[in-house]
Amino acid sequence: MRSLNNSLQRWRMRRVIKYHPIPHNIWQSVTRRLPVLKGLDAVQMAHLREMTTWFLNRKMFSGAQGVEVTTSMKVVVAVQACLLILNLGVECFDGWVEVILYPGAFRVHHEQTDAIGLVHNEASDLSGESWLCGPVILSWDNVERDAYAVHAGHNVVLHEFAHKLDGLNGVMNGMPPLHRGMSRKRWADAMSDTYEKLCRHVAAGKSTFINPYAATSPAEFFAVVTEYFFTAPDILKKHCPNVCKQLALFYRPVATL
Ligand SMILES: [Zn+2]
Repeated sequence: MRSLNNSLQRWRMRRVIKYHPIPHNIWQSVTRRLPVLKGLDAVQMAHLREMTTWFLNRKMFSGAQGVEVTTSMKVVVAVQACLLILNLGVECFDGWVEVILYPGAFRVHHEQTDAIGLVHNEASDLSGESWLCGPVILSWDNVERDAYAVHAGHNVVLHEFAHKLDGLNGVMNGMPPLHRGMSRKRWADAMSDTYEKLCRHVAAGKSTFINPYAATSPAEFFAVVTEYFFTAPDILKKHCPNVCKQLALFYRPVATL
């Protein structure tokens, strides 16, 4: 049954690539502007283009607050999302369909219950949000800022889609489903040791070795170290070598870190 599903998937993918290709000029003009793709060779770029084509065919983009979503904008988001799963497979993004683009930071209201049971309605401005089985929401301002210039450790698209991978086993907690042969213990040890060290630095008011936002929760830690892994692997390797090793096993990059 599995091989039948795989064959069906490949057949569908071939049809999408044949009948719904990304226009060549758009693919070229977008991808040449994205520094995060610089290390990829021609074969990897071709594979990434196939996956991006598939992504665009399977996902629905919509603009909020007057954003008119162009094909180029969709490609900017899709190609970076697919970079995460280049060596994992398109099925990692199954189970949801919508990507919503806001022009800038968007305001959300979340209810929080405090220690004595009072419910607080808190508002915050976000550059991105990823729902467990729902949409990915992004601020286009932030997508552009992070996409076209290198901001070490900052990339909102990689961040929000890393949450999607984290949630593949039903909960976003910094522990995505690992590949066969990977050790849950080694993953948990590497992540929690570094996360706790970061939390101690933040609590003590010390400068932190990576973006202190990673100390918000284990889920945010995974999303932030993913941003470093793809945009500033040297920083991650230097300050969080065990985390870097586990992410290399998870994302399976061809280049050796
Ligand atoms: Zn996050």
